[in-house]
Formats: sequence, structure tokens, C-alpha cells
Amino acid sequence: MEEYWKTISNEFWEVWNFPNCIGALDGKHVVIEAPPNSCSFYFNYKKTFSIVLMALVDARYKFIAVDIGAYGKSNDGGIFSSSKMGKAFKKNKFNIPNGRALPETMRNERKIRRSEGKPYVTKKNVMVERKKEPKEEISCKYTCSKCDLLSAEVAAKPRDKHTKNMLELHHKKAEKARQQMKQDTALSQLPTSDICMFSMDLEQVLSLPSLTHSQMFYLRQLSCYNLGVHFGDSNRGHMFLWHEGMSGRGGNEITSCVFEALNSNPTVKRKLTIWSDNCVGQNKNKMLLFLWIYLTLTDKFDEINHKYLVSGHSFLSCDRDFAQIEKRKRVEKCEVPMDLVKLIVHATPNNPFIVTLLEPNNFYDFKKAADMYLNTGKLQISKCS
Ligand SMILES: [Zn+2]
Repeated sequence: MEEYWKTISNEFWEVWNFPNCIGALDGKHVVIEAPPNSCSFYFNYKKTFSIVLMALVDARYKFIAVDIGAYGKSNDGGIFSSSKMGKAFKKNKFNIPNGRALPETMRNERKIRRSEGKPYVTKKNVMVERKKEPKEEISCKYTCSKCDLLSAEVAAKPRDKHTKNMLELHHKKAEKARQQMKQDTALSQLPTSDICMFSMDLEQVLSLPSLTHSQMFYLRQLSCYNLGVHFGDSNRGHMFLWHEGMSGRGGNEITSCVFEALNSNPTVKRKLTIWSDNCVGQNKNKMLLFLWIYLTLTDKFDEINHKYLVSGHSFLSCDRDFAQIEKRKRVEKCEVPMDLVKLIVHATPNNPFIVTLLEPNNFYDFKKAADMYLNTGKLQISKCS
């Protein structure tokens, strides 16, 4: 029996390039007429009545095991764990082989332990039980092109101290910026604080209508843009939405949104700190610089600091907000921009985002003003860090 699973696993690798897989499992709802007096037992999420055919197949679609007859209301996980098939797997009655290293990673293989009949392997590059990691740490996992290039050089020349130091310095710089952002957020939250702080970023383009039929694949969709502004003091996300029919998504639009964000959230604090990524077109340009100068000249703030995270390591609070929106977007379909507004408002019920659907007159020509009053050529804004 053990050899049988190994053969299947080898086939999955050969045919599908998927390692250490001994079968593909899924449930199929077979529509039936509701039996008399069966309440909602057979009523499924597709709003029909059904029984479930759950099947485990090998790499060539051949059935290995099936379970037929579960109620349509049940989910796949529940059906599997209460089925004879699932119970037999749990008790390891099928002689499942021990866990083994992923292909090309045999060198580091260490001990393999068995837990509740399921193979888990205690090493980094083998599938292991996933543990939830604190959300704050997400950014540490990301690498940028510089990280990858330097890591490759260190691997190729392990004795080259210079490259090693460069990589270390780069990581330290990224980490330091991240810590400083955390510190700024904490500072702004102090009751006596005189600092207003926010981070901002543009979400990836949201295309409308979000229909899934195949023709949509080839049709031109309406691009909607969403600038997230996450205020550190209130820990609240503000979203500014507009679509391509109103304006583009360059420095002018970003600056206009920030202007709107500050106008709609007036503060008595005298200092302003902004954190963003290094995108030159959006955040690192003379339009924003002009706005900062304008805000100090009009006595809105005494001091403004715009700080940038290290490129490729710019995980901001807005990104966490966007992840919530993306999650909601997977289950809710939007057709017009107003649907997006509703979706974003409902994305986080506990701490709802404040959404503003911008009007064409919310956009100002900051570029023209900056060109008239600022000569930033010598400053080389895009290159500063
Ligand atoms: Zn990096």
C-alpha cells in the first residue's frame, strides 16, 4: 500500500510538477429533488438541493476513494473528516508513507516525526504545519531586488566580506526605517502628542465591473483608483476613490487626495509626519513638496516630515487595509464605483474605513503651481532617501 502512494506522488510530480502529493480531493454537489421532511439538510450554498460526491483521485484523474451521500448543506472539510475515508486517513489505516523532503532539498533533511498519524517534518524547506505569525512581522519576509542580488553574490562568494556587509547594512537600514515608523505611530498616539501622523499608498487598480464570465476577459474595464491614508493617531483608514474617467493616477491626483484627507480631518496638532514608499510618480515629487510648503506657509503646520521606507521593504498600514478590501472583493461583486464604496465601508466592520468618492472638482493642478513657484532641479527629490 505504501508503495502505491509513493507511485501516485511520483506521478503528481512528473505530470503536474507538484511535489509530495498523494491525491487530489474535492466534493461535487449532485443536484437532487429535496426528499420529503428533509428540512434544509440537502440545501447547499448554490441554493439547490444536493448530495455530495467526495472523491480522491490520482494524478491521472482515476478514483482512489469516494464518499457518496453527504448532505448538501455540509462543507468539504466537515464531510471529509466525518467520512469513513477521512477517519481512515486520520488513524493512518491507509499506510501513508512518512513525510519526505521536497525535491532538490535532501541535503538539509533532519528528523521526521509523526504526529496524530499525519506526517510533519521538522525542517524549514519541507511542508510543515503552518503557525500564525504576528501581522507586524510580514514585512521582514519580503525581499527586494537588492536583497536577492546581494544574497546571490554572498552565496556565490561566501568569503567576500564586503558583499556580506552590504547585505547586512541594507537589512539594517530597512529595519531601522520600519522601527522608526512604528515609533512615529506610537508617538502620535500619546495623549500629549503634538504630531499628526499618517501613512499613504495607492492600492492596485480595481477594475469594474468585476464579472467572472469569459467574455469579460477580453473586454476593456473601468480602472478605479484608491488612495489609502491611514492615520496613526486614530488608527483609522481613510480611502479616496476615483476612476480613470475623472483623472489619472499621478502626482497631481495623489497630492489632491492628501489635500482632501487633511481638509476633511482638521487637526490642532502642529507637526505632521508622513510615511510612504519611494514611488517617484506618486509620492516623491515636487507636487507633494509644494503641498507641504503650502501647508506650512498657510500656518496649518509648523513642521512637516515626509519619510520614506526602503524600496522593496515598504510595508505600510495601508497595505494591511488593502488586504482587507481584497479579501472582501473576493466574495462581493461590484459593478459601479458606488458598489466599491459600499464594499470598502463593509470590509472591516469593527473599525470601518472612511470612504470618499472624489468628484472631478476635488483634483487640483499642483504641478502647474509647483512649476511656477518651485525650482527643484538641484534638489533631486527622486534620488533622495
Ligand atoms: Zn532588500
